[in-house]
Amino acid sequence: MKLSSKIILGMLLGIIVGLILNMVNDGSDSGPLTAWLVEYIFDVVGRIFIASLKLLVVPLVFVSLVCGSAAMGENVKMGRIAFKTLALYLFTTAVAITVALTLANIINPGVGIDTAAAATFSAPVPPSFKEVLIGIFPTNPIKAMSDGNMLQIIVFSILVGVAITQAGNAGKSTLSGFQSFNDVIMRMVTILMHLAPYGVFCLLAKLFTEEGFSAIRNLALYFMTVVLVLVIHAGAVYTSIFSLLTRLNPMVLLKNMRPAMLFAFSTSSSNATMPVTMNVMEKRVGVDNSIASFTVPLGATINMDGTAIMQGVATVFIAQAYGLDLGISEYLAVIATATLASIGTAGVPGVGLIMLSMVLQQVGLPVEGIGLIIGVDRLLDMMRTVVNITGDGMVTTVVAKSEGLLDEAVFYEVSDRDEYRTK
Ligand code: ASP
Repeated sequence: MKLSSKIILGMLLGIIVGLILNMVNDGSDSGPLTAWLVEYIFDVVGRIFIASLKLLVVPLVFVSLVCGSAAMGENVKMGRIAFKTLALYLFTTAVAITVALTLANIINPGVGIDTAAAATFSAPVPPSFKEVLIGIFPTNPIKAMSDGNMLQIIVFSILVGVAITQAGNAGKSTLSGFQSFNDVIMRMVTILMHLAPYGVFCLLAKLFTEEGFSAIRNLALYFMTVVLVLVIHAGAVYTSIFSLLTRLNPMVLLKNMRPAMLFAFSTSSSNATMPVTMNVMEKRVGVDNSIASFTVPLGATINMDGTAIMQGVATVFIAQAYGLDLGISEYLAVIATATLASIGTAGVPGVGLIMLSMVLQQVGLPVEGIGLIIGVDRLLDMMRTVVNITGDGMVTTVVAKSEGLLDEAVFYEVSDRDEYRTK
């Protein structure tokens, strides 16, 4: 069996087992067997799995981006790539939230919602934009790495890469060390992917035992609106932009990216998925390391289209629930703030909801409204994270193609090759 089929099987079994356990214990406290399973099997294996993924993120980004920026050579080219990538990331996010606001206004998910439940929610404080901006520049690379501060690691790695190209012979031997290390870490990603079927089974079994679908009942319309916009964005917006800019078949891209999507769904974290996204972009989509090593970690950190979609629908939902009207200027403010907020949203579970308070404050909506939607956010988080990383992959491929750094033979060949099969 191919690894991606095994991962899908692990996911489905996890969801089924979780839902069964959730139903068996419906309403009452969970029985001792369920508690034991969740606590000592699902939680332990799931958390070890996430920990091992996260373990690879910092060394992978550092080593791979040093190689990538050293390979890029000229600074002009690097500037051009950075510009294209940022422009596309921001553009796709702005489109995402615009579609979300439009559809939410047609579907009206918040009309007639009782706001009493929101009273108990107290809003967390999001970081200010100024702090986010200053925070990009590291004072101590070791601290940046130990904190897992991605933007700081990106800045430091690019600096090392650029210096390597300018340092003559010393640069050459340093680079060859980094290149070998890069291969070793990529191998670690492959090894880890073989644990994925068991890891995702445990993550999803735990989640669905605890969550079930009961929370969705009152919020079905909100939930479905977010899901609908997510599907439209990945299935229509991305595919159109992609085929327009590359003239390649977008369905092949989506198919090749499938392992990364499965990881994103199971972990709800663009960050933890990053090693897999990077591996997939290089080995299955055919993007050169010099592009992927920059665009993937950057995207996992600042490009959150799925999150922006949730924030757009949530804003309209909360406004309607409280019976408040938003005008055109408020909608524009929502688009601008949510696009910027997505830059400041870390790629870990649940952060999108915290950043939502920034958007709500911007247009004077009650931040307690977040309390209304918190119940279904965990399930939506899984789906929006898939869109978040799909956007990263789409932009990565577009930029690579425009720079002549996409291996189309690999792009079209992969369809039924399983990159992760080991001898
Ligand atoms: N979980 C999302 C991600 O990692 C962020 C969020 O929307 O909370 O991409």
